[in-house]
Amino acid sequence: MELDLRTIAVLSTVLRVLTFVALAAVMRDFPRESREELRYWTLGIGLLATGWMLIAARGHVPDVASVVLGNLALFLGFQSLLFALRAFLRLPVLRWRDAPLPLLQVAVSVVFFWIWPSLTVRVVLGALLVAAVLAESARVLWIHAPRPQPMAYHVIGVSMVVAMLILLVRAVVQMSALGVDHMMQASAMQSLAFTLSNLAPLVSTLGFLLMINERLQRELHRLAIADPLTGLANRRELQRRGDALLLEPGRKVAVVAIDADHFKHINDTRGHEAGDTVLVALADRLRHAARAEDVVARLGGEEFVLLMPDTSLEEAHRRAEALRRDIAETPVVLEDGPLSATVSVGVVERGDAGTLAGLLHAADQAMYAAKAAGRNRVVVAGGGRRPPPQSRSPLAEGSAAWPST
Ligand code: GH3
Ligand code: MG
Ligand code: MG
Repeated sequence: MELDLRTIAVLSTVLRVLTFVALAAVMRDFPRESREELRYWTLGIGLLATGWMLIAARGHVPDVASVVLGNLALFLGFQSLLFALRAFLRLPVLRWRDAPLPLLQVAVSVVFFWIWPSLTVRVVLGALLVAAVLAESARVLWIHAPRPQPMAYHVIGVSMVVAMLILLVRAVVQMSALGVDHMMQASAMQSLAFTLSNLAPLVSTLGFLLMINERLQRELHRLAIADPLTGLANRRELQRRGDALLLEPGRKVAVVAIDADHFKHINDTRGHEAGDTVLVALADRLRHAARAEDVVARLGGEEFVLLMPDTSLEEAHRRAEALRRDIAETPVVLEDGPLSATVSVGVVERGDAGTLAGLLHAADQAMYAAKAAGRNRVVVAGGGRRPPPQSRSPLAEGSAAWPST
C-alpha cells in the first residue's frame, strides 16, 4: 500500500511537537536527579520535530534548509536521545568521538545534493550514520541495564533496533531497482519507513518514561524496606517476612537477636562516625553469615536480628556462635586504628504458637542473659540448654578499653 508521504511527514511533525510540549510540561514533576536525561530526551524529540518539519517543507523552503538543516536536525535528534540514555545510565554524556558524526552528515547532504547529486548515496550514507547512533543507543542500554532487565528497557531497545533495521533495509532497497528518484516519491518501502519512523518516537518516549518510572519505583521500594545506614532490612520488612514465614504451620524458624557490646562507649571514645562505621562493619559480618533464605535486619541503634527459616535450635546456636567469634576476631579498621567490637547474642526457636513479637521478645531476653553473663557470648533460650563453653575473646591491639560491667 502506498501512502501519501508528505501527509505522514506532516503528521510526524505534529506528533513530535505535541510530544515535545507534553515532555517539557511534565519535566518539573520529575525528581531533580531524572531531569538531565529528560532534558536531553525532550531536546531530541524537539530536534526530530524540526527535522521532519524542514523535510516536509521541501519545495516550500530553500533546499539548504530542507536538505542540509533538516537532515542535520534529525541526526542531532537521534544523538540527543543517545545522550539521554547515557545520562539515565549515569555515563559520561558528551564524548569527543560523537563530534565528527554530525559534520559527516552535513558533508553527505552538501556533497551529494549539489556536487554529485545522488539520492541513493544520501539515503545509504545517512542511514548508516543514524544506524550507528541507534546501535550505540541499544548497546549502552543492553550493557548497563540492571539485571534482570526491566521490561521498559526492552521497549526502547527493541524500538531502536527495529528503527535501525528499517533504515538499513531502506538503504538496500534504494540501491536496488526498487529505489526512488526523489525523497517524497511514494513506494511500499517509503510508506513503511515513513509510517514506522512516525510512530517510533512515541513508543520509545513511552518506554523512556516507563524506564525512569521503574527506577524511581525500585528506589522507593528499597527506601521502604531497607535501613539507610547499613542497607539491611528494616523493622517493617522483618515484620513482613517474619509474618509470612510464621504463617506456614510447622515450619521451623530460629530467631537470633544480636546487640553490640558497650556501643555507647565506642561512640564516646572514638566518635559517632566511627560508631557508624562499626555498625556498617557489623552489618557486613551478618550479611556474610546469612544464607540467601535468611532475613538480616537492623531493628535500630546497635540491635540486629537474624531470622533463619528451616533451622533447628542447635543449628542456629552453632551459626550464632560462629558469627560471634567472627565478629570478635575481626577488628574493624577505623581512621585512628583498629577496634575490636563484640556482640551479645540470644537464640530462640519457634514454639508451637510463636508470634514474631513473642519470638523477638524471647530472643531479646536470651540476649540480655548473655549481657548479664559477661557479654561477647551466645545464650540459647529455653530451660536446661547450655551454651557451649567459651571464653571472652581477648581484646585486640588498639581496641577501646572496655568499662567494667
Ligand atoms: P550494652 O553492652 O549493654 O548493649 O551497652 P551499649 O552501650 O551498647 O548499650 P546502650 O543501649 O547503652 O547504648 C547504645 C548506644 O548506641 C547509644 C546510642 O547513642 C548508640 N546509637 C544508636 N544508634 C546509633 C547510630 O545509628 N549510630 C551510632 N554511631 N550510634 C548509635
Ligand atoms: Mg548494646
Ligand atoms: Mg541495645
